[in-house]
Amino acid sequence: MSTPPLAELVARAEALYLDYRLGAVREWKRKTGGLAIGYMPIYVPRELLHAQGVLPVGVMGGREDLEIIKGDAYYQSYICHIPRSTIELGLNGSLDPLDGMLFPAICDVIRNLSGMWQSLFPDKLAHYLDLPQDFDPELGGRFYRHDLERLSASLVERGARPLTSEALARSIELYNAERREVRALYELRRTQPWKLPTHELYLFLRAALVLPVEESTELFRQYRQAVLDDPGRKPLDQARVVLTGSFCEQPPLGLIKTLERAGCSIVDDDFVQVLRFIRSDIPVGDDPLGALVHAFLTDAMASPTRYVDRGRKGAELVQRVRACGAEGLLFCAPSFCDPALLDQPMLVKAVEAEGIAWTAFKYAENSGQFQVIREQAGTFADSIKLWSNA
Ligand code: SF4
Repeated sequence: MSTPPLAELVARAEALYLDYRLGAVREWKRKTGGLAIGYMPIYVPRELLHAQGVLPVGVMGGREDLEIIKGDAYYQSYICHIPRSTIELGLNGSLDPLDGMLFPAICDVIRNLSGMWQSLFPDKLAHYLDLPQDFDPELGGRFYRHDLERLSASLVERGARPLTSEALARSIELYNAERREVRALYELRRTQPWKLPTHELYLFLRAALVLPVEESTELFRQYRQAVLDDPGRKPLDQARVVLTGSFCEQPPLGLIKTLERAGCSIVDDDFVQVLRFIRSDIPVGDDPLGALVHAFLTDAMASPTRYVDRGRKGAELVQRVRACGAEGLLFCAPSFCDPALLDQPMLVKAVEAEGIAWTAFKYAENSGQFQVIREQAGTFADSIKLWSNA
């Protein structure tokens, strides 16, 4: 199959990223008549929705250009920004094509948002997905399976088709294929970061949130091929860094560009984690729902939103830095993000014990000024280059 030119692919991904009104979702519904269900970051089992003919749609708040007119009235000032922009998008009609929303249990803010959603949009499905914090198959596993069965039944009540093992097995295979493509892109960026600037890769990660998995997988494949075919991108003398903390509310695109222009090559990150939250292919076996549960219990990324019951907090972060040959670490978290900022001191302790250079700053999804961060990141990158050449 031929691959469209790189510029054309990037333009498509950017258009999907910029479209608050979910034109691609509206078009999918017009063609299929199916249900579309939104979900908040970090992880939901998209396979289950797909198996019931439902389009899962990632909702990641707003950007710097979304004017918050009503959303601020629903929240106090000292919490993160994503619930305000999500409310704003709901109230201004941008999320109208969604037949419901899933709110995974990641923090109190998302829990409160799910209650707010039920009050504001009583005709739509609002499901609080109670992800377990116990990873014993007989406890957390049974609990989670029950929650998934409850979700599946709610979807059927809204008009989705019943869940079958055959359909779920096929959906898991399709999402395995998407995960493989995303892993391949991350691996390519790890080895040749100049070929995949993160501000560009990020557009594709966001575009995938509004596409059916069959299309997003193909878009990722085409992007990787187009990048490999492009002879124009040459190595840059930049500091290799891992960026962590941006797993829920996302930074503005301008911030990612600023970090790259300041001399940082991002070789691993926490963006749009739903695409990589399950780290490997899920083996389907005889019980696909059990396989989905098992993958969540045993093969999910370490995240501040998951309880670490064994091992040391920060060990996985150190391992990530080492695995991608990074020279430094950027703690880049949303302001007032409790899960990210409460973990940060423990993570700092773990990386300092390994002699890993780090710096930290905060953002909001609607931040518009990056000069201070540019100077900080530039100084950090320069000092890494000086030390590594010493
Ligand atoms: S940005 Fe942090 S505090 Fe805010 S909703 Fe997300 S995880 Fe919760």
